[in-house]
Amino acid sequence: MEEKTEPRVVAIVGRPNVGKSCLFNRIVGRRISIVHDQPGVTRDVIAEETCHGFIVMDTGGIGMHSTTLSPKAINAATEDQVDFAIQAASLILFVTDAQTGLTALDEIVAQQLRKCGKPILVVVNKIDQVGNISAMDPFFRLGFKHILPVSAEHGGGFEELLDAIHDFLGPMPVKEAETTVPITICFTGRPNVGKSSLGNNLLKQNRLIVSDMPGTTRDPIKVTFEHMFPGETVPCRFQLIDTAGMRHKSKINTSVEFFSSLRTQQSFATADIIFLVVDAVSGVTDQDKKLAGQILELGKGVVIVVNKWDIAQKQFREDSLEGYKNIADFQKGFAKAVQESLFFLPSAPIMFTYALGGSETTKILKVAKELYTRLNQKLPTSKVNQVMLDLVERHKPKIVMGKRFRVYYSLQVANQPYKIKVFCNQIFRLEDVYRRYLEGAFVNAFKLQGCPIRFEFIGKPPRPPMASEGAHFKKRSTLKSKK
Ligand code: GDP
Ligand code: GDP
Repeated sequence: MEEKTEPRVVAIVGRPNVGKSCLFNRIVGRRISIVHDQPGVTRDVIAEETCHGFIVMDTGGIGMHSTTLSPKAINAATEDQVDFAIQAASLILFVTDAQTGLTALDEIVAQQLRKCGKPILVVVNKIDQVGNISAMDPFFRLGFKHILPVSAEHGGGFEELLDAIHDFLGPMPVKEAETTVPITICFTGRPNVGKSSLGNNLLKQNRLIVSDMPGTTRDPIKVTFEHMFPGETVPCRFQLIDTAGMRHKSKINTSVEFFSSLRTQQSFATADIIFLVVDAVSGVTDQDKKLAGQILELGKGVVIVVNKWDIAQKQFREDSLEGYKNIADFQKGFAKAVQESLFFLPSAPIMFTYALGGSETTKILKVAKELYTRLNQKLPTSKVNQVMLDLVERHKPKIVMGKRFRVYYSLQVANQPYKIKVFCNQIFRLEDVYRRYLEGAFVNAFKLQGCPIRFEFIGKPPRPPMASEGAHFKKRSTLKSKK
């Protein structure tokens, strides 16, 4: 049940000084300090969620990292801004300046925008006197269908601009009514780790609502039940997926059968949270790792359960394992080792259980409920963006083929699993190890332990090689240098 609402993003582009920042502030409704070149912090893109139901983004900072840019560098930076906006936005506001009139750089921007396929609204700014429509005349020559006069500084034409933006974006997506959908959980793990024991405890100790009987023995049984957490007055609804593998475990003896049965377990697709049960005595095995990899691919919330902890405790008491002060210290060391073997999981919570004791119900369901809340958040765009920029700033990527990987702007586009669109310079500069760093650090920054993250990197295609790099590319390079 992935939530997919593509964000409505309106990007403001245009050459320097046409009034982009001014327009941005007016749309946001307050002054946002725009720091493009503060030491250590480079704000390439600023974006804010507005009260109008869309995100507005000023791309004016891309490439503008120096106060003394040559006209050629300004042209290049402006082109980069437009490139970025084309990728990131649902609507582009192409801001021009009525007081300076149409310039060569406006023409370059127009040319880039004409072929992009995104809706474009030309905003002729600095028309401070209402009715001075003739100031718009030169801009009609750009050939865009939609053109509006505004005064970003004084507010003229602003209501009309908002109406036009809404017309372009269409109506706001209507959120589905909240229902009491149960939190769907399932236990998975190697045979005999205690999945059935854990599942049965949940069903024995809670009020069953419905039991969805399967059509065939291979189908999973789904049982809905309610659990009343201590101190709460309304019960919380859960659904346990009891897989065929759990009920007919005697038929699944070899690991090959086990894993093939797992792949066919459609049930996993409907779960919100998967508890990966590992055996406290054998610790994390290769099979467990494979299983963890499959869970990760499914993009579900994941909790690690170390079951049969009673046996491990007993062993500790009897053999008093060296290097640990007490049982709590041993447990801490065990958790660390589990986390290290399953390092690729998104910092999944680890819990220790004794399924035969039967007293783990509230503990398991509490972890499920907390994780479910974490899985379903709408992360504020400004914070997502800020965190990503900070992570890159804190730990700079290596230089790859002459330049560093660079993040411009990021936003969340889906839940369960979290999908974060990251607009960047060029993807080939992103190393795998750096992507993993970003994922792990993102999970920690938002306290999303157990929630898988998918980054979707969107970058510019690599520039064609220089003319000297091959006759084949000569023509293109010559064309580019003529601009
Ligand atoms: P940006 O470089 O495109 O972001 O432009 P700014 O927003 O920084 O504005 C550049 C200059 O134009 C500033 O001095 C603004 O005060 C001025 N400006 C912006 N909007 C208007 C407007 O509607 N009318 C007039 N007269 N000046 C404006
Ligand atoms: P499954 O194959 O993963 O569903 O595992 P079961 O729940 O059937 O358990 C396998 C065996 O382990 C059974 O004999 C259980 O009684 C035993 N078992 C399950 N949980 C625990 C536990 O926490 N401690 C101990 N000592 N034994 C357990």
